[in-house]
Amino acid sequence: MSPSQPSSALPLGLTVREDGRPGRPKPPRHLADLSLAERREAVTGLGERPFRADQLSRQYFSRLTDDPADMTDLPQATREQLAGALLPRLLTAEKELACDDGTTRKTLWRTFDHAAVESVLMRYPGRVTMCVSSQAGCGMACPFCATGQAGLTRNLSTGEIVEQVVAGARALARDEIPGGPGRVSNVVFMGMGEPLANYRNVIQAVRRLTEPAPSGLGISARGVTVSTVGLVPAIGRLADEGLPVTLAVSLHSPDDEGRDELVPVNRRWKVAEVLDAAWGYAETTGRRVSIEYALIRDVNDQAWRADLLGDLLSGHLAHVNLIPLNPTPGSRWTASRPEDQDEFVARLEAHGVPVTVRDTRGREIDGACGQLAASAS
Ligand code: SAH
Repeated sequence: MSPSQPSSALPLGLTVREDGRPGRPKPPRHLADLSLAERREAVTGLGERPFRADQLSRQYFSRLTDDPADMTDLPQATREQLAGALLPRLLTAEKELACDDGTTRKTLWRTFDHAAVESVLMRYPGRVTMCVSSQAGCGMACPFCATGQAGLTRNLSTGEIVEQVVAGARALARDEIPGGPGRVSNVVFMGMGEPLANYRNVIQAVRRLTEPAPSGLGISARGVTVSTVGLVPAIGRLADEGLPVTLAVSLHSPDDEGRDELVPVNRRWKVAEVLDAAWGYAETTGRRVSIEYALIRDVNDQAWRADLLGDLLSGHLAHVNLIPLNPTPGSRWTASRPEDQDEFVARLEAHGVPVTVRDTRGREIDGACGQLAASAS
């Protein structure tokens, strides 16, 4: 089954579809939605020479501007016309919140149809990570995740995804983030949405982000992480794209009973199937898979679950990323006790499984994992 088609096999209430609701107006066409060849065609259709598409693309991806006034290599009338046709404003910043002395910054965006979308920039010594959204809302309904509570509004277009990264790159280039002018080195699809449920647009966005200018932004594919609840057929498809991105699988429980609760799509694709798909991905790409595990006090942090997880992962090309639960408003769940977390780590290590504990960057501004939600802003 293709993940992009509605599926009657999914549990009730879960939605996996390519274009959001039928009849919904589409975001305006943007050059980031198009390959360079398609941009040249579009420009020709507007009565301009094809190389103007390259110039316009460099303005957007290298100079990081969409303002015709900056585009001095293009004749004035041409800039206005081309920018008007291919660089529409896709996202409008409604709110910005910063913490960690300004090195973590969350932006709440509004799309052309007023959907709320969030992205987070995190600057660390030597790298900058942009956490981006692939959908407005999410249809996967994981009960511990704020985005999951509100349901899916719609898929984001390729341009809407890319623009979140370009906005971060622009802020860095213009020295707006403490630490001096910089570049985006990493992109993680860990904001709102299930990236593999918006497969086509997400793959195209990855291509735009990783292709060098004038086609795209020129970020290394190795710096890109696609995080999924475990849509098994889509993981197989991703492995065959020839894109060396890191795959992160949100496991959260090593047994089906626990995972059925925490990640409802597990009722469709079981732990064993998800891990098989992950090992297939590792084999095809040679890339180590990241197993995401939000530690929830007395829910999934028991020693026996650590041992079971260790058994399942040992000998495979994987590492575990433990995320202390970021409690969401109204949730009955909270993060694990420090001693339980330590025990969990120790047991995984005893199985020879590499494990890291995720920092909780952005927590104070509701910008940490699972806290991105329109209603929280
Ligand atoms: N839909 C994708 C991306 C979601 S966000 C996925 O499920 O992988 C990225 C990670 O944050 C996922 O592993 C998700 O399960 C986790 N997450 C969601 N809510 C969280 C919370 N409240 N605390 C900690 N991690 C959370």
